[in-house]
Amino acid sequence: MHVKPGVLELYVGPMKSGKTLAAIHRVEGLNYRDDVDMVFVKPFLDNRSPTVESRFGSRSYDPLVVSFPEEMLTLLTPEQRVVVIDELQFFQEGIVGVVKSLLVDGLNIIGAGLDTNFRGEPFGYMPHLIGIASEVQKYTAVCEVEGCNKEAPLTQRLIDGEPAPYDSPEILVGDKEEGYEPRCLQHHEVPILAPS
Ligand SMILES: [Zn+2]
Repeated sequence: MHVKPGVLELYVGPMKSGKTLAAIHRVEGLNYRDDVDMVFVKPFLDNRSPTVESRFGSRSYDPLVVSFPEEMLTLLTPEQRVVVIDELQFFQEGIVGVVKSLLVDGLNIIGAGLDTNFRGEPFGYMPHLIGIASEVQKYTAVCEVEGCNKEAPLTQRLIDGEPAPYDSPEILVGDKEEGYEPRCLQHHEVPILAPS
């Protein structure tokens, strides 16, 4: 496993599909003796966890938390040639231009994110990022509906335990009643509420 200058590698899939773990595994495969200076980046919006968590034991990484993708252009040091970006789906429009410019500068970017939102539709700028990626790996989880255990490519949003309606916002922040779980195509539910 080596640094790939100018290459975007993406790991996508639903909740609990192991995509972040795969991204971390990828960078852990880099030869540290080469003094690879890497940085972990997360969008500020994702405040569920202060660190990029790895389920390899207790190892975790202190990420650079950015509010806007453009911050990466000023915060990265010239020595940092490998950038790992988690929760890519939460970044605003600027993420595509920023990633492109870092790639043109010869950085190796390893990203993880949800490819689809709770509606089962493309999430944020993920399709654009997939378009400029050289390598894309799709991961799936296991459907959490009792007794199903089928392959789950999608993420179900639940509000108070019920499937969230289609017109629920793409990104919910700080709503304690919301939950997410991987679902198979048969059990992924997005009710469309009749206009009242
Ligand atoms: Zn299922």
